[in-house]
Amino acid sequence: MRTAQRIANLPPYLFAEIDRKKEAKQAQGIDVISLGIGDPDTPTPEHIVDAMAKAIRNPKNHQYPSYPGSKAYRHAAATWMMNRFGVKVDPDTETLALIGSKEGIAHLFPAFVDPGEYTLVPGCGYPVYHTGGILSGGLTHWMPMTAENGFLADFESTPADVLARAKMMFLSYPNNPTSAIATPEYFDRAIAFAREHDLLLVHDNAYSEIAFDGYRAPSLLERPGAKDVAIELFSCSKAYNMTGWRVAFAVGNPEAIKAFATVKSNIDSGVFTAVQDAAIEALTGPQDSIVALNALYQRRRDLVMEALDTIGLEAATPKATIYIWARVPKSFTSASFAAKVLDEANVIVAPGSSYGPSGEGYIRISLTTPDARLEEAIERIKNTL
Ligand SMILES: *Cc1c(COP(=O)(O)O)cnc(C)c1O
Repeated sequence: MRTAQRIANLPPYLFAEIDRKKEAKQAQGIDVISLGIGDPDTPTPEHIVDAMAKAIRNPKNHQYPSYPGSKAYRHAAATWMMNRFGVKVDPDTETLALIGSKEGIAHLFPAFVDPGEYTLVPGCGYPVYHTGGILSGGLTHWMPMTAENGFLADFESTPADVLARAKMMFLSYPNNPTSAIATPEYFDRAIAFAREHDLLLVHDNAYSEIAFDGYRAPSLLERPGAKDVAIELFSCSKAYNMTGWRVAFAVGNPEAIKAFATVKSNIDSGVFTAVQDAAIEALTGPQDSIVALNALYQRRRDLVMEALDTIGLEAATPKATIYIWARVPKSFTSASFAAKVLDEANVIVAPGSSYGPSGEGYIRISLTTPDARLEEAIERIKNTL
């Protein structure tokens, strides 16, 4: 048996060493706290679970789902875009159900990128922007993200020979892993750039609902001309604590949505309709769970920021997302600092370098751990430094 070269081309899994150490420690009975994974620790709101309980008993939902998503789900998505952002999208031609944004991102590659063509990928970001390309025979150009440019991916420095073979560009603000937020001017420049170079601009808006201190994250589609060049992905995962349910949607440019839907209809058979029914309740039902969730994350954010300050680790106070992006002390790399914290404090943090080259020199701390465990983890880190 011979596996495809694509598998060998995937980057080494940086968490492999961390996972190995974690398992060895746990086998010795050591209590390891993980601040590595961004996966909401509080349950899905009850009214959404109730909608699912009802939907699962409907025999119609036991058959194959609609490929692009049920009419009702696409309508709910379009209504949500209008209510939340004032953005108008056609539920029939400009809206597509996804089995989570991750699935969507991976399947954008066969729709837009031929082997040997480039995707412009944030210098540090959600891994599938890069690995999705590798699995399709595409190439990645990493757009530099630095503290100096506010972690706004620098597409303007892309070399001309790359641009000549580039088809797609990913952006994502509020950002994972840096928790940076974008300005409207930045979005406008990205839209103009995509237009000039004939790129599909994909905005992964997974964290639009997770924001603090009164900040409200925008949709890229609010910007003039965005729909000519862009699609946006929204996921129920972080906003409604629905990571396990696998449901999201894409909205925007109808030609892009059509190509995207064509690929998907050849590969998957849609989202379980009962899950779509639950997501309709999430999108159109009461939204107060988001207020409570943000209060929870904001409190944890403040707790971690205060502790980092005492330890002497430098981090900007995030206005959004579930992550703190902290600089590692001088003389450490992302990986060596994460290893020290695991070895000496029995705490897992994510090395920034696992998200791409711009992540070197940082670690990501996730706020999706119960308060008491989060406090204990910070205390342990404090004691080792
Ligand atoms: C969590 C996350 C998502 C959500 O992915 P799903 O597949 O919908 O769960 C998308 N993009 C980014 C950047 C994320 O961090």
